[in-house]
Amino acid sequence: MSLILISSGRFAEHQTPPGHPECSERAEVMEVVANEWRDQGGEVVAPREVTREQLARVHDDEYIRRIAQTAGSAVALDLDTYASPETYEIARLAAGAAVDAVERVIGGRHQRALALVRPPGHHAERGRAMGFCFFNNVAVAASHARHLGAERVAIVDFDVHHGNGTQEIFEDDPSVLYVSVHQYPFYPGTGAAAEIGAGRGQGLTVNVPLEVGAADEDYRLVFAQVILPVVRQFRPDLVLVSAGFDAHERDPLGGMRVTTAAFAAMTADLRAAADECCAGRLAAVTEGGYDLHAVAESLRAVVSVLGAKASKANLWPGCSILPSRGEAAVAATELALAPYWTLQT
Ligand SMILES: [Zn+2]
Repeated sequence: MSLILISSGRFAEHQTPPGHPECSERAEVMEVVANEWRDQGGEVVAPREVTREQLARVHDDEYIRRIAQTAGSAVALDLDTYASPETYEIARLAAGAAVDAVERVIGGRHQRALALVRPPGHHAERGRAMGFCFFNNVAVAASHARHLGAERVAIVDFDVHHGNGTQEIFEDDPSVLYVSVHQYPFYPGTGAAAEIGAGRGQGLTVNVPLEVGAADEDYRLVFAQVILPVVRQFRPDLVLVSAGFDAHERDPLGGMRVTTAAFAAMTADLRAAADECCAGRLAAVTEGGYDLHAVAESLRAVVSVLGAKASKANLWPGCSILPSRGEAAVAATELALAPYWTLQT
């Protein structure tokens, strides 16, 4: 099979306070989806813990020590980011799952991998936990891919929030392209189109800020006109996906109107781009998504697209409204990035 899932029931062990959206039931949903894939004859493996060396490629030593010190106790790291006694170990398992996904895909035994993990990672900066995130799983995965010899790694992040941590970690790194489509303005406050990277990384941070209320049509437009053209021009050796499902229309935190079918379509588009650029090498890592039914449905859609024998073109659901939010986002991104990329507008 060309898709492997990395999953573990242990991801439920990281505890958050009662009523917290990033709850352990999310891990149970992921396990259900992994078991369904196994029942269909698909391959599912348990992750290993990330190593200190792998973490230290993207996080400060002092920060790793600080998170390690939370082991065995309950600590609030910011207003909504809580470490339980188990968190350090489980966060290392989440980052390790992302590393494992990359190794499977770069090693060539599988074309595609999906790491079903919590806690999520894309808000975690080099030296700061925030937004339910401790270690930046996708960033650890990208740096591991570079370590294994990938010259260029593209990260596409469709979580409803901007991945400020991933952006910060790679903002001056010309070998890692970070593309994010997100609700804006919104938590964590970053992700304006004008944030395009720094130093030698200028132009390699691509932010597509969508106004609240964006629907499938808006996402379809920004994928066609910005995200896919940029990824193709970058010619990555590996496509990584920060797969958050909180832009779903039923999500309690996000304010978007994305349907389950559109998550399938985004995934299919990214799979097709990976087929074109890098022999199909694609590894996805879960991020947010707080309606349990929406997460289950969306994950099933992603597994179905990544696990299918052949790529499917254009899975976008029928359009009924004008993508005015998408058009505004494309215009803002084009204004900021015209010197670097040719967009399909
Ligand atoms: Zn999110």
